[in-house]
Amino acid sequence: CGIVGILGKAGTNVSDALITSLKRLEYRGYDSAGIALLSQGAFYRHRASGKLENLETLQTKNPLPGHCGIAHTRWATHGIPNEANAHPHMTERVALVHNGIIENHEEFRPAFASSDIQFQSATDTEVVLHLIDQALISGLEPVEAVRTTLEKLKGAYAFAFLFREYPDLMIGVRYGPPLAVGYGQGEMYLGSDATALAPLTKRLSYLEDGDMAVLTPHSVKIFNLAGTLVQRPIREHSLAQ
Ligand code: GLU
Repeated sequence: CGIVGILGKAGTNVSDALITSLKRLEYRGYDSAGIALLSQGAFYRHRASGKLENLETLQTKNPLPGHCGIAHTRWATHGIPNEANAHPHMTERVALVHNGIIENHEEFRPAFASSDIQFQSATDTEVVLHLIDQALISGLEPVEAVRTTLEKLKGAYAFAFLFREYPDLMIGVRYGPPLAVGYGQGEMYLGSDATALAPLTKRLSYLEDGDMAVLTPHSVKIFNLAGTLVQRPIREHSLAQ
């Protein structure tokens, strides 16, 4: 299971690069995979169970547009490995990928059951999607929507988020499963490890538990669990591209 995110330059297409990086995470094991891209104010998505080849076939037949995107290999914990349960999950406002387990997801379901929100999957992850979506609807900015949601969660996670109305923003958070920020030239990245990001950049910072990374194409801000701006060391790896 793994995560990749690319926040590229306007006018570029990052969909093939996302899949190239996902392939480099195959060694971690997975049962399904997916990518979501943001282009001109709309989300586009491919998801497939089984091998990454299945996802590549979809991408070859119908290449997705987008200068920024998130990608995921899933190792199912809640919900069988099928297309509907594969990540990314998304609403009109937010798209996300998740590695880990949300232990208290059941707590939130009764409130959603009495709303008109339709769940599209059997994953623990989708609860988080709707909590963030509701926070955005209530008027919170993305960083605050993510922060208030994470405060409610118990479990282990690495997440990457995209927001439809914020084409220059990608957020990553980590509590348990690994997540690194990659630094590019006018581009920024998220990835589960250095191997995933090696074709994109040699410079990265590993997030610590509780960290939230707020990325734009030209800047990275990392906040710790208390919401304080922190510096994480930037390392240069020597992996081949
Ligand atoms: N718990 C989530 C799911 O079952 C994420 C699994 C993963 O780490 O890939 O969909």
